[in-house]
Amino acid sequence: MSAVLLVEDEQHLAVGLQFNLEAEGYEVEIAPDGETALALLARSPNRFDAVVLDVMLPGKDGFEVASELRQAGRFVPILMLTARNRPEDVLRGFEAGADDYLPKPFELAILLARLRGLLRRREWFHLTQNPAEPAPATSADVFTFAGKTIDFSNLELHAGDRTVKLTLMEAELLRYLIRHEGKAVARRSMLEEVWGLREDTDTRAIDNFIVRLRKYLETEPANPRHLLTVRGVGYRFVAEPG
Ligand code: CA
Repeated sequence: MSAVLLVEDEQHLAVGLQFNLEAEGYEVEIAPDGETALALLARSPNRFDAVVLDVMLPGKDGFEVASELRQAGRFVPILMLTARNRPEDVLRGFEAGADDYLPKPFELAILLARLRGLLRRREWFHLTQNPAEPAPATSADVFTFAGKTIDFSNLELHAGDRTVKLTLMEAELLRYLIRHEGKAVARRSMLEEVWGLREDTDTRAIDNFIVRLRKYLETEPANPRHLLTVRGVGYRFVAEPG
């Protein structure tokens, strides 16, 4: 059974969602604010398989909670609940380290689908972490280039003796660029294909992710050799620069 931490201060919403998630077989705990959520996750870091995190919370908001979790090295998948009329929240959410988002109000079926998507990845991670169980063939999801290795099933990047943990979204964006290796990829395509954003969303979210990814995989982030800017278009990934 997967355990979900639901961070939502509006009690009727939280209780309703808890009821529905429990009916689907999830174990659910409600945290009414960010501080409670952070304390719960610090006390039992492995207890929850995913966090459903509302942006609008009393005290620390969802952005602060997400970035504090990531800064503390906790990589539990986060599904962020944003306000439909504030697309800038989506960008801030991703910058803070959310893995996916859902605008409120949402349909339960969509929330369940998003949650399953996050948990599936989480399960691969557990499988490959457990040496008693042989890892499935699909877990050999590794890309090696220029002395670096990206292990997509463990969400890790190895460069020399350094290991960087990636969020799901960082890994997905890298995977997308790698799949189009050598070709210019438009910011708009990344937003649509990686995040499923179809509205008129600000493409600067991508630039923020690229800045972060360059820090991880470039020797000189200011002078990138792998994640190149294509002026007026977007970005291009080059595995082995000539
Ligand atoms: Ca709220």
